[in-house]
Amino acid sequence: MKYHIWTEGCQMNVADSQRVGSALEHLGYTHTAKIESADVIVMNTCVVRQSAEDKAYGRLSSLQPLKQKNPALVINLMGCLVGVRGHDKLRKRFPYVDVFSPPSDPGPLVSYLTQGEIRSLEDAETTRRFFAMDEELILPVAERGKLVSAHVPIVYGCSHACTYCIIPYRRGIERSRPVGDIVSEIRALAAQGVKEVTLLGQIVDRYGTDVPDGPNLAGLLRLVCEVDGIERVRFLTSHPNYFGNELIDAIASLPKVMPHIELPIQAGDDTVLENMKRGYTQQAYRDIVAQIRSKIPDCSIATDIIVGFPGETDEQFMQTYQVLADLKLDVAHLARYSMREGTVATRRMSDDVTDTEKMRRFRLLEDLQEQIVTEINARYQGQTVPVLFEEKVKGRWRGRTPTNKLVFVETTENLKGLTVPVQITWTGPWSMQANLLQQIAPIQL
Ligand code: SAH
Repeated sequence: MKYHIWTEGCQMNVADSQRVGSALEHLGYTHTAKIESADVIVMNTCVVRQSAEDKAYGRLSSLQPLKQKNPALVINLMGCLVGVRGHDKLRKRFPYVDVFSPPSDPGPLVSYLTQGEIRSLEDAETTRRFFAMDEELILPVAERGKLVSAHVPIVYGCSHACTYCIIPYRRGIERSRPVGDIVSEIRALAAQGVKEVTLLGQIVDRYGTDVPDGPNLAGLLRLVCEVDGIERVRFLTSHPNYFGNELIDAIASLPKVMPHIELPIQAGDDTVLENMKRGYTQQAYRDIVAQIRSKIPDCSIATDIIVGFPGETDEQFMQTYQVLADLKLDVAHLARYSMREGTVATRRMSDDVTDTEKMRRFRLLEDLQEQIVTEINARYQGQTVPVLFEEKVKGRWRGRTPTNKLVFVETTENLKGLTVPVQITWTGPWSMQANLLQQIAPIQL
């Protein structure tokens, strides 16, 4: 019995797919990369923009002939296309789908395959007895002992109401995971060879606000840093309104927490920010960046930006351009505004910036950001930096600096999972090359 998983979208989906894979393996299935030979196909979907949703529909249609050929095939549609609010329309449109699962929940599939004996993997006791588990349900076999860096969801859902965003509708209200679950999961990952964890949430810096007696993100980071075997800790995505001094101080004082922060601004104009209901001004964002830089001098900062939000004028767009030009951030994830069904922006505003204009604004920011990051990265030339290596790609070892820059090293040595000081010999906007300094000895943190 074989399973195949197709994953689209964010890191949360990647983490969810790993858990589904692992759950299926506990049921006796083995992974196959060939979709045609699978007995169970999981499609883990994303709908954050129309293009992602279209991809999911395309993939789904391509499954119909497989199901016709083999009626015993189990097709599981999972993730944000399904969402948490029912799926009657999808069931009508795709009658050949057997199981529908909301994001982050392998429960419906496991329940289907076990004929209801296990309803939800949240029911830890039954799950443990059923599977006679001796290890946690996290990584599929193929990744155990091989994965260097893993993602760990710590906050599910989102209760913010950014007017453009469909995620709260599809992932449900914000729920922080209990601290004990998170820490024991990270211990299990460490035992499976993982060296770096990235804690995930839509607004990760709100971690714990819905749990009266639990730690906040700063407190959680302290606990995660104590897990033996974990050498690096990252987290994303942060929201400027919750990114306070306590968190900045925690990052500054915990050596395992990497100096890299994902802090979306979305727009650099106050009226657009207000229309997006982001809840801060562009000046407030600049102040937080200044605060981060004063306490964590070499911190790299990434941001997200949407161009062509309803009503965004050229002048307003140029404010965004100016903020990026001034702040010189390390990464800008750029997106063209895409209408999403059910959101406030779709219901109350008109998508009035043309596609051509959205593209023009996108390219302007893309060019600006390429110049900025080329300059930032050039400062690494000749420097010695500790890089955690993950895998060998086309003969070169690939790893990341603490600031999350991609580094390639050509060597015959096995660097997997090692943090090694390297000397940067070439820099470009999207990656760097480096040489090993001497014989490899893992450095002590
Ligand atoms: N929760 C995070 C990330 C959400 S999704 C946050 O608060 O920022 C990732 C990115 O997709 C967002 O940051 C945003 O830049 C982009 N995005 C979300 N909805 C979008 C839409 N309707 N059109 C275009 N981009 C969108």
